[in-house]
Amino acid sequence: MKYISTRGKAPAKTFTEILLGGLAPDGGLYLPEEYPQVSRAELDAWRSLSYADLAFAVLSKFITDIPADDLKGIVDKTYTPEVYRNARAGSDTAQITPLRTLEPGLHLLELSNGPTLAFKDMAMQLLGNLFEYVLDKQHAELNILGATSGDTGSAAEYAMRGKRGIRVFMLSPHGKMSAFQRAQMYSLQDANIYNIAVRGMFDDAQDLVKAVSNDHAFKSRHKIGTVNSINWARVSAQIVYYFKGYFAATTSNDQDVAFSVPSGNFGNICAGHIARMMGLPIAQLILATNENDVLDEFFRTGVYRPRGTENTYQTSSPSMDISKASNFERFVFDLVGRDAARVSRFWSRVDAGGEFDIKSTEYWDSLPEFRFASGSSTHADRLTTIRATWEKYGVMIDTHTADGLKVGLERRRPGLPLICLETALPAKFEETIVEALGRKPERPVGLESIENLPQRFEVMDKDVDQLKAYIAAHATSEHTAGS
Ligand SMILES: *Cc1c(COP(=O)(O)O)cnc(C)c1O
Repeated sequence: MKYISTRGKAPAKTFTEILLGGLAPDGGLYLPEEYPQVSRAELDAWRSLSYADLAFAVLSKFITDIPADDLKGIVDKTYTPEVYRNARAGSDTAQITPLRTLEPGLHLLELSNGPTLAFKDMAMQLLGNLFEYVLDKQHAELNILGATSGDTGSAAEYAMRGKRGIRVFMLSPHGKMSAFQRAQMYSLQDANIYNIAVRGMFDDAQDLVKAVSNDHAFKSRHKIGTVNSINWARVSAQIVYYFKGYFAATTSNDQDVAFSVPSGNFGNICAGHIARMMGLPIAQLILATNENDVLDEFFRTGVYRPRGTENTYQTSSPSMDISKASNFERFVFDLVGRDAARVSRFWSRVDAGGEFDIKSTEYWDSLPEFRFASGSSTHADRLTTIRATWEKYGVMIDTHTADGLKVGLERRRPGLPLICLETALPAKFEETIVEALGRKPERPVGLESIENLPQRFEVMDKDVDQLKAYIAAHATSEHTAGS
């Protein structure tokens, strides 16, 4: 299996060749040359597999340059119940992504039982083990540099902690994350994890990362890489749980289902799109946004109009507060019949701060074939949905999952079983839960007093030279040994 760029001007590469990189050299995103197809016989055989065996079956179709035994070992190590034990009482954690049925035909797929209580662990844990394996083979090292406002950074740190050959330099806005999020990240004592609290906002941290990444000499000298959401391996790992959720919610492969997906950068739902393209019977992919509705607008009107960061709202489902959806280009590539020249033209407008419109093209007529529906949600909707779910089913959900459930119920076709992806546990977003329910969410065992653990982080001004000096001082084996 080879991977090609959505902009059509980069050479095809294998899975491990694109694993450690980001964008393709032509500025596009990598996708498989063609989507592997899953036959009816395979679907029938996959129905009874454990999560790890299913992950191996699915990923084997995309990863053809890692020996099968090695891949099996990596997948088994990644998808073990010990890693995904932060579930609510009564969840069958042996399933890795247990399905919780609220009422017949309405389910939550629990994707947030991993170490950081958000679905990003599902992919990031695999990435950590793949990185370690590949770096070991190449006798190479990698210094991961990123900026986070919460979920992605902590998922990356928990996936990379203690891994040979890998260091993580994660920038976060000083004093701007919740006490729980700070505790999650800053309490890590692993020598290969460096938390840098930048005096400023998330955008300041992001600017610093961009400034360092634009210094190509520095970047290659210090082997700097990223783990952002456009990484293909992350998308591929997420395809697996669409299969797992489908099997758990149905009794035969003749049935259709709808998935509803709380969306920001379009990474999660992109995996659902690919699962459908492979042959999984998904009749509806329901995309839910919060007040930052750039994607809902596209599916309603045909116009993709990224907002500037100044027009991006801070909401109570913060992990969906995006101005543009970095994975969306993958879907558009398929929508336009994989016409890379067309994608390049669209994104030359987007990259210049503009927009594109498919309403007047033939692509608007083919959009329904892709089975998307969409809607958006507000803070008031989240409170109502969290309350209703608690009162009706005794199940506490987080703010992002509430966006998904609200839009899913609104847009699902009557009679279709609905599987709502649970993208975080309520414990992560205590403040809004208290606002909705007048009580605090339960914390998973062991995390009750995480705020009291000793914390380890470096406070820094928004100063590129200071950051570079810090990285240079810590990013070589000589310096980390014994530190
Ligand atoms: C990252 C995140 C999302 C958005 O997922 P995308 O793949 O960016 O669309 C939704 N909910 C939570 C809790 C997240 O952390």
